[in-house]
Amino acid sequence: MNRPAEFEAPTASVRGLLEKLGEGRLSVRDRLAIPPQEMPAQDPAARRGNMDEVALGYSEEQARLEALRCLQCKNAPCIASCPVGIDIPGFIAEIAAGRYAESLAVLKKSNLFPAICGRVCPQEVQCQATCTVGKSLKSLDKAVSIGRLERFAADRERESGRLEVPAVKPATGKRVAVVGSGPAGLAAAADLAKEGHAVTIFEAFHKPGGVMIYGIPEFRLPKDIVGREIEALEQMGVEIRTNFLVGRTRSLKDLLDRDGFAAVFIGSGAGLPKFMDIPGENLIGVFSANEYLTRSNLMRAYDLQHADTPIFKAKRMAVLGGGNVAMDAARTAVRMGAEKVFLVYRRTEREMPARVEEVAHAREEGVVFRFLESPTRILGDERKRVTGMECLSYTLGDPDASGRRSPVAVPGSEHLLDVDAVIVAIGNESHPLLLQTNPEIAVSRRGNIITDETGKTSMDRVYAGGDIVLGAATVILAMGEGRRAAASINRLLAEE
Ligand code: FAD
Ligand code: SF4
Ligand code: SF4
Repeated sequence: MNRPAEFEAPTASVRGLLEKLGEGRLSVRDRLAIPPQEMPAQDPAARRGNMDEVALGYSEEQARLEALRCLQCKNAPCIASCPVGIDIPGFIAEIAAGRYAESLAVLKKSNLFPAICGRVCPQEVQCQATCTVGKSLKSLDKAVSIGRLERFAADRERESGRLEVPAVKPATGKRVAVVGSGPAGLAAAADLAKEGHAVTIFEAFHKPGGVMIYGIPEFRLPKDIVGREIEALEQMGVEIRTNFLVGRTRSLKDLLDRDGFAAVFIGSGAGLPKFMDIPGENLIGVFSANEYLTRSNLMRAYDLQHADTPIFKAKRMAVLGGGNVAMDAARTAVRMGAEKVFLVYRRTEREMPARVEEVAHAREEGVVFRFLESPTRILGDERKRVTGMECLSYTLGDPDASGRRSPVAVPGSEHLLDVDAVIVAIGNESHPLLLQTNPEIAVSRRGNIITDETGKTSMDRVYAGGDIVLGAATVILAMGEGRRAAASINRLLAEE
C-alpha cells in the first residue's frame, strides 16, 4: 500500500500556511497556489489481483493542504450543487484547523453517511462542478476535492474505533415500516428512529445495504463501512428483517391494517436489469451486471477460500454500457481473472455517464475501451455457449433527449469481437412485484412510483423515495429522498 504515513504534527509547509491563516494573512493567491492533492491509490498491477479498496485516502497533511485550497466563498456555490446542501466551507474550515470531530459534526447535520458519499458521490458533476477554485484555475480537475475531504473527516472517526450513535427521543409508541435497506431506506429509518418511532426495515436479500452491498464492489466501497452505519441504526433500536419480500411475504395493506404500522416508506430501488433484446442474449455466458456483481459482492464469489458461490470464469469478456455499473462489472471481471475485458459503448468517452475517476481506474487496470460500437447479436456454439459477438460501428449525430449526441449506426460496418462472455450493463428499472400487488399506488409509464413534494404516494400513509421514484439515480439523491419522506412521516405522526 502506498498511502503516505499519517502526520502527527503539520510539516513546515503546512505550518507556514496555518500561521498565515491564524494571522488572517492567507490570501486568495496563497490558497490558489497550493497544488491540488492527489489521492494515493493502490498500484494498478497489484490491485488487479485483489478486492481491497483502490483509493487509499488522504494523509492528514494532504487533507489540511487540500482544505486550505478552499476560498471559503461567502456565496459558496458548491452548497447549492450538493443534493443535501452540506455546509461545505464549514466542514472544510474545520479540517484546515485540524478539528476533525467538529468537521464531521458539520457534515452529519446534512449527510448521515459521509464515509459512503465521500467515496461514491459523482462529485465532479455535483458539488465540485461549481467550485470557485476550479473556475478560477479554469479546470474542473483543480476544484477543491470536496468528496475526498468528506471521506477524510468520516474516516478519522472510523479509524478511532468509536461508533457514533445518534440520540433517540423517547418512544412515541408508533411503528413505521421501511421497505428496502438501500441508502433511501436507511436514511429514512435513521430520521424516523431519532424521532422515537419504532422502525422495522424489511429487506428481500439476506443482507441489508441495497446496492451499496450487492452492487458497488468492495474495491470502491468497503462493506465494513456500510456495516457500521447499519450497526449504528440497530443500536438506535431499528429492527432489520432480512429475507422478507414485501408484496409476497406481506402486502403493504397487511403492514398497515394487520401488523399495526402507522406508515410505510418504500425504498425498494431499481433492481431489475434491462437487456439489449438482441439474438443470443439467452446463451450461456451472458449475464446482467446485477447478477454478476451480486454473485461477487453479496455472495463473495471472489473469496475462493471461504465461499463456494459459482461465478462464470471468462477469458475474454465484453461489458456493454458506459455507466458506473458497467465500470464496476468490467473491473470485477479483471479481478476474477479475465485475460481481456472490453468495455463496449456506442458513444464516445465524452458522453459516458460513469465517474471520471472510475474510468481512469478501469483503464489503469487494463480494461480496453471500445467506443462507437454496439452489438447486433451474440454468437454461440452447439452447446449454447458464447463464442463471439457481432457489432456495428457508430458515429455521433444530433443531441437526443438526454442532451448527449445520439449514436448513428454505420451501415455495413458489421464485425466480430472474439469473446466468451458478455455482461449487459445498460441500466436498471424498478421490479414490478411490489407495485403489481399494490395497484392503488400510482406509477409512471416507466414504472416509477409517483410521489408529491412531501414524498407521499397515492396510497394513504405510504411514502416512497430513492431509485423507485427517480429511476436509477445516485446514493446521495436516494438518501436525500429518504430523509425528505421521513420528515413528512414524522410530521404526520406528530399531528395524530
Ligand atoms: P437500492 O440501493 O437499490 O436498495 C433497495 C433495496 O430494496 C434492495 O436491498 C432490495 O433488495 C430491496 N427490495 C426491493 N424490493 C423489495 C421488496 N419488495 N421487499 C423488501 N425489500 C425489497 N450511485 C452513486 O452515487 N455512485 C456510484 O458510484 C454508484 N455506483 C453504482 C454501481 C452499481 C453497480 C449500481 C447498481 C448502482 C450504482 N449507483 C451509484 C446508484 C446507487 O447505488 C443507487 O442510486 C442507490 O443505491 C439507490 O438507493 P435506493 O435506496 O433507492 O435503492
Ligand atoms: Fe459533494 Fe456528495 Fe458530499 Fe454533497 S454529499 S458535498 S455532493 S460529495
Ligand atoms: Fe470552497 Fe469551492 Fe465551495 Fe468556494 S465553491 S466554498 S472554494 S469548496
